[in-house]
Amino acid sequence: MSIKDKLMYKKKSSYEIYTGEMTEKIQNYASEYSAFLNKSKTERETVAASVELLEKNGFSAYKLGDRVKAGDKLYYSNRGKSLFAFTVGSESLENGIRICAAHIDSPRLDLKQIPLFEDSGLGYLKTHYYGGIKKYQWTAIPLALHGVVALKSGETVNIVIGEEDTDPVFCITDLLPHLGKAQMEKPMAKAITGEGLNILIGSTPLEGEEQDAVKINMMRILNDKYGIVEEDFLSAELTAVPADKARDLGLDRSLILGYGHDDRCCSYPALTALIENNSEHTVICVLADKEEIGSEGNTGMKSSLLLDLIDELSVSLGADPIVVRANSRCLSADVSAGYDPLYAEVYDRSNCAMLNGGVVMMKYTGHAGKASSNDASAEYIASLRGAFDNSGVHWQTAELGKVDEGGGGTVAMYIADINIDTIDLGVPVLSMHAPLEVIAKNDLYSAHLAFLAFCK
Ligand code: MN
Ligand code: MN
Repeated sequence: MSIKDKLMYKKKSSYEIYTGEMTEKIQNYASEYSAFLNKSKTERETVAASVELLEKNGFSAYKLGDRVKAGDKLYYSNRGKSLFAFTVGSESLENGIRICAAHIDSPRLDLKQIPLFEDSGLGYLKTHYYGGIKKYQWTAIPLALHGVVALKSGETVNIVIGEEDTDPVFCITDLLPHLGKAQMEKPMAKAITGEGLNILIGSTPLEGEEQDAVKINMMRILNDKYGIVEEDFLSAELTAVPADKARDLGLDRSLILGYGHDDRCCSYPALTALIENNSEHTVICVLADKEEIGSEGNTGMKSSLLLDLIDELSVSLGADPIVVRANSRCLSADVSAGYDPLYAEVYDRSNCAMLNGGVVMMKYTGHAGKASSNDASAEYIASLRGAFDNSGVHWQTAELGKVDEGGGGTVAMYIADINIDTIDLGVPVLSMHAPLEVIAKNDLYSAHLAFLAFCK
């Protein structure tokens, strides 16, 4: 071995590692992921698709207060919007739990509470965007409407319009370039405003009505199909998302273009690793809501529910929850920015995540001098290096971008706050937070293998 090979660190490409039969395995895994992505465009839909997958694999519903025993495979759906799935190991709980925590909400356009209006013979829905978006990207693309309307009767109506080939879709119009001179001179952040993100939903007036005839007709169509009236929007969670399905990208089909990779491309591998694991340790897969708006609320990672669940498992298995947490470890399973040569100026080329460079570990996220980051310990990273390298996991390390270029956060710090060693690990993404994001299939599969190795 040369001195160079002996001493120097070299990042590898997945193509040096995944060959032969593995290539087919990765393609199959990616197709299953794309199918999962297509039925999981909101956090509620992701919980439903995850529960379906878990039940197919022998998991059953758990209620807080239930007794558990080694060998149990359970899941707890929190208000249908976040999910805690777990396998109870034979090892003492006081030796620690392995936790993979991903999030299942994605940037989108939520409807306002009184969304419906009409202007100049056109019907619209008003929106309030959710999460960090570049607003101009959401105009002139087909949008689908997803969500629920909760009725006073206690019944909840599910709505999905725009996903079937025969469904209509919706759209936010943009200004024609011919008249867009002033608009195009504005900074990108100002060219399209949040208040201006109104969705076009129709143009036919209700016969016989003189005022608001289009608006009334739109409500009539919704009433015919879903039995709802305008006041029911007050207790609804309806959201506009890209109507597209996930597609293979590239002549070689090595990439996937789709909505919501952040963070379903980590949620899905966290789930499949939980399902496949046969660890002696207890393993929890957390699929959290509200990460994109700061992990707030009782379905977000700042909620005490993970603590409560660990307390409940400890009571049931005769363990001290403080000891359990002190010995537990977590992967905060979230995406990172993939290096994009078209925007090379924002990345540090030697500390960024490459597509096909494997699952990416981030010691810290945050912004401006690591603020709002848990900055994982060197010792914890060392133990993961060992675990990953022993299991042949293809992985890399990265920062989001250049120092002081910007930044971002994940759920990691909320889990680290309860005395659990935590680090970010996930899939590199191009066009993150755009209506359609890009990932590499090799990295997706590397995430599955990493979570599996971590559970051991
Ligand atoms: Mn994320
Ligand atoms: Mn995000």
